[in-house]
Amino acid sequence: MQRIALITGANRGIGKAIAQGLAQQGLFVVLGARDPKSAEPLAAEIRSQGGQADLQALDVTQPSQRQEAIQSILQRHGRLDVLINNAGVALDKWVRTADLELDILRQTMETNVYAPLHLCQLALPPMQAQAYGRIVNISSELGSLEQCQMGSTAAYRSSKTALNMLTRLLACELKDQPDILVNAAAPGWVRTELGGEDAPLSPEQGADTALWLATLPAGGPSGGFFRERSPYPW
Ligand code: NAP
Repeated sequence: MQRIALITGANRGIGKAIAQGLAQQGLFVVLGARDPKSAEPLAAEIRSQGGQADLQALDVTQPSQRQEAIQSILQRHGRLDVLINNAGVALDKWVRTADLELDILRQTMETNVYAPLHLCQLALPPMQAQAYGRIVNISSELGSLEQCQMGSTAAYRSSKTALNMLTRLLACELKDQPDILVNAAAPGWVRTELGGEDAPLSPEQGADTALWLATLPAGGPSGGFFRERSPYPW
């Protein structure tokens, strides 16, 4: 049986690399993008390599689009096995916490926290019904409280800290349903528009831990925060 995976923000960066990686492993990838045209080249590339992909219009900040996306995937494919909450924004790089505009914090939370939570809430019922699910929330090392040694970038960093907590809570609440695994991945510092050109890792390297978590075998970990396939300090 073919697994169906939704990746948000699949048109570029780490999301694109995750989509390519899952397609190479035989999953049908649904490429979520707020401008579906921007993901068409990727869909074509995946198909030309023998993989399977389709497009899903999804601006993750729009609740109605989140609902429509999950409904539409269930109508088209009859199931949803893997949810990768990858779409993210970093709007306050190096801004001091004392200077942070609350509206920037709100916008960041909408994309990086509320959207992934709502998508998890929408994906869980079908995953529970089919007794299989893998949810990967793309977090960041910058969300780690333990590793926090310097100021700035409070909106982005606290959004990822919140996402980590939600990941853990969902996993705790799913303890009696071991078929559904929910984890957070820290990709490392990756060369994308968000990470910048000086970052040491390629998008493919940044995607590796998410790919591992998305395809965990039965009995795999749940409720963890991982980098390079190893637990990372919260
Ligand atoms: P990126 O190249 O800037 O890509 C961001 C992606 O998110 C794009 O596909 C973008 O779509 C999408 N997106 C943003 N807002 C959206 C919205 N409202 N609806 C739908 N899609 C939206 O960044 P990236 O580095 O690949 O980041 C991917 C994830 O990795 C993020 O969650 C980020 O926080 C995390 N991360 C990255 C790094 C790094 O070093 N790069 C490190 C740690 C964590 P558009 O093309 O439409 O804008």
